[in-house]
Amino acid sequence: MDKNTYIPENFIDDVKSYIPPHLTIEDFLSSCQEPLRLSIRVNTLKMSVADFELEAQKIGWQITPIPWCPEGFWLNRSPEEEAALPIGNTALHLSGCIYVQEASSMLPPLALREEIQSIQDNEFAVLDVAAAPGSKTSQLCALMDNQGLLVANEFSSSRLKVLAANMKRMGASNVALSHFDGKIFGDYMYECFDHILLDAPCSGEGTVRKDPNALKNWSIESNVEIAEVQKTLIRSAFLALKPGGSLVYSTCTLTPLENHHVCDYLLNEFGGAVEIIPLANLFENAETATTEQGYLHVWPQIFDSEGFFIAKFVKKSSVDNENQQIKKGSFPFEPFASKAQQAFNSYLKKQFKISELPGNLMQRDKELWLFPEQLDVLKDKIKYARLGIKLGTIHKNGVRLEHELATAFGHLARQNTHELTQSQAVDYFQGKDVRLDKPSVQAGEVILTLCGAPVGLGKWQKAKIKNNLPRDIIAQGQLITWV
Ligand code: SAM
Repeated sequence: MDKNTYIPENFIDDVKSYIPPHLTIEDFLSSCQEPLRLSIRVNTLKMSVADFELEAQKIGWQITPIPWCPEGFWLNRSPEEEAALPIGNTALHLSGCIYVQEASSMLPPLALREEIQSIQDNEFAVLDVAAAPGSKTSQLCALMDNQGLLVANEFSSSRLKVLAANMKRMGASNVALSHFDGKIFGDYMYECFDHILLDAPCSGEGTVRKDPNALKNWSIESNVEIAEVQKTLIRSAFLALKPGGSLVYSTCTLTPLENHHVCDYLLNEFGGAVEIIPLANLFENAETATTEQGYLHVWPQIFDSEGFFIAKFVKKSSVDNENQQIKKGSFPFEPFASKAQQAFNSYLKKQFKISELPGNLMQRDKELWLFPEQLDVLKDKIKYARLGIKLGTIHKNGVRLEHELATAFGHLARQNTHELTQSQAVDYFQGKDVRLDKPSVQAGEVILTLCGAPVGLGKWQKAKIKNNLPRDIIAQGQLITWV
């Protein structure tokens, strides 16, 4: 029980005015003071759930499946274990095989699961309007199996950097990052997206179990102010959605001002073109958190989680937008010359037995990038902060490969790979060369793996592998020193 949790009286009074009759304020308050259970999601772009379960058993992790997310698990770690080795420094985390994500925050992408997974071809685009730090973006990527295009937008520049780093770690290769106020999408990318997630900025009332100070600056006035931003964002998202597409709106707050009322605004604004998709059957027992409208209003005491709100809509028909905008300026990339492309592809084949990378090879000055194929249709609509995967730097004798090529496509390699032992992984993530037990006869570049997932590039050098980990990713602290 965290007695330091700050819960102001005026907040409690407000909650009393809208808490549903089957829940009590006493349960709500005591649940707000309970510590939150640690939960992780397996990143199926890097590791299967079955392999994760085996690995967890091997390293003695006590895990419990999260009933609504097949890739989600609660993890029971003692404070001593966490102090000796923070979860962020574990091999499973550093390799991108897991993402630490609160259990209820896995729900919004799951509300789009059926639509995304029923798409048969590669020709679809999804927008994540407010994406950083990227828990739901990476979950969407995994649901999309890196197919199609995922535009992940974030308004804050510092958070955009974290989003980019997380996407690299998770091996996401179908993502285009953008850096705008989400209100621009309806005008610049009108009816461009098959599905959209708006995990909106909010007052965070549901996060008090994680952050005892989450309610420090709470006021109704600020709820009202944030709701205005949310209305602008949901309107923009709906305009950016193709007819027939689905929109999921979510927040980690409880007040109807930022939830039900924002949904009412959407329904009033677009009348017959929008319909609620009820979420009562999203998972077993979902009905215990479902509102009469069909939204999920997850109070912390219902599933012993953070508070969350999730609503889902379908766009039944096109709507007018007389304010459509066209971006100025040209696209700064050009296709990689075909002769150079052949040489690059044959190097990947010779060194790693990678036959072809999935996407379009594009060049900007000396940089070589791989763009998701689906980007072609949307590339001129907005200016992107980062597109696809940076594969390398072009030199007169070929291409110097980038770390990211390995993290995104290393799983395609059939030779010149090396699975790091735990002590080698410690060295690798501290930026040191990897010492080998036996001198190697191999030469050239090698893809390093950890927990079976690609984590970077090195170079064979007889008794060691030279470390090519970018300096900015070199981890601090202790890795793999189990207590
Ligand atoms: N979806 C993220 C995840 O699961 O990791 C969490 C998103 S958080 C709830 C909301 C994000 O919206 C914040 O990163 C915030 O910086 C960003 N944001 C705030 N105002 C915005 C705006 N006008 N347009 C787009 N993003 C905005």
